[in-house]
Amino acid sequence: MFVRAMVQNRQGEPLRLTTLAQPVPGPRQALIKVETCAVCRTDLHVVDGELPDIPYPVIPGHQVVGRVATATKRSPPVGARVGVPWLGFTCGKCDDCRRGMENLCDEARFTGYTLPGGYAEYLAVDERFCLPVDDQCDAVATAPLLCGGLIGYRALTMTGEAQRVGLYGFGAAAHILAQVLNHQGKSFYAFTRPGDLAAQALARELGAHWAGDSDTRPDQPLDAAIIFAPVGSLVPTALSHVRKGGIVVCGGIHMSDIPSFPYEILWGERQLRSVANLTRRDGIEFLTIAAAADIHARTRVFPLEQANQALEQLRSGRITGSAVLRVHEPAAASD
Ligand SMILES: [Zn+2]
Ligand SMILES: [Zn+2]
Repeated sequence: MFVRAMVQNRQGEPLRLTTLAQPVPGPRQALIKVETCAVCRTDLHVVDGELPDIPYPVIPGHQVVGRVATATKRSPPVGARVGVPWLGFTCGKCDDCRRGMENLCDEARFTGYTLPGGYAEYLAVDERFCLPVDDQCDAVATAPLLCGGLIGYRALTMTGEAQRVGLYGFGAAAHILAQVLNHQGKSFYAFTRPGDLAAQALARELGAHWAGDSDTRPDQPLDAAIIFAPVGSLVPTALSHVRKGGIVVCGGIHMSDIPSFPYEILWGERQLRSVANLTRRDGIEFLTIAAAADIHARTRVFPLEQANQALEQLRSGRITGSAVLRVHEPAAASD
C-alpha cells in the first residue's frame, strides 16, 4: 500500500508531493491515519534548514490529529482519536527524563524533524507519544493546539502569577494563548509586526487590553512578556516593557541574534528565559484546559498538496490564526 506525503529532499528545495510505501510501525510504534496537520513556524525553520542535523529526505509536520490504524499493547486502541506532538521520543532514563524534564532529554527526537512528520497520509509514532484527544473534536480546530497551543501554555506557566502579559507576535500560538489568558482572568497586550492590522484586529476581537505595533510602549509596565516571533531584537524591547521583577520568555525554537542592550533593562531582578519543547504532562494538562475553556484556533485550511503555499503564506504574515493541512476527511471511529 502506498501513501502520499509532502517531502523535502534537499535544503532549499520546495516540498514535493511524493508517493511512498506505507510506513511499517516498529515494535513500540502505532500507525496513525492522519486527518489534519497544522503548520507551525518551526516547520519553516525545518524547510529553511535553520535547525541543525536535518536528516533528508524530511517530512515536516508535528501537530497531527488522526486515528490509530495499527495499535500496540500500550498505545490507544485502533480507531482512537489521537494527537501527535513535536516531542516524539525520549530515552526515559537520563536525569532530565527522570526529573520530569523530558523536554530537555539529549536523546529526544522530534516529529517532523528528526522523525517523519504529519505532512503525510500515515505516520508511525512511538506508542508513548500519542496524546488522547476528544473523539468528537473538530480535527481542523484541534491540530493547532498540539504545538502552538502547548508551547504557549508551557511558556505561560513560566510567568507565574503575572496578570498583565505581553504577547509578541500574534499568530498561531498567541491567538490560542490569548483564550487561555481570558479563561484565567488575566489581561493581555498583543504586539505585532508594525502595520499588521489583521493580527491586531484578531487580538482585539479576542479581548486584548491593547493591540498595536511591537515598537510601541504599553500604557503601563507588563508583569511578563512571551516572545513568539523569531526576532531577536524583540528581547530588549520586551525587557524594556516589563516591570521590575518581570519575566520575559522566548517561546520559539529559533531566533535571530539578540542585539546587545544596556544592563539597566535587565537590572531590577527581571528574568529572561527560554522554553524548550514540551512534555507529555504539558500536553495532557493543556488539552484538558482547552476543552474546559472551549478554546478554538482560527484556521485556514489547505489540502496536503498545497503545503508549500501554506508555508509561504505563514512566512509572509498572510495567515491570521493557524494554517492547517487537511490530509484525510475525518473518519468515524469504526472505520
Ligand atoms: Zn532522556
Ligand atoms: Zn511547532
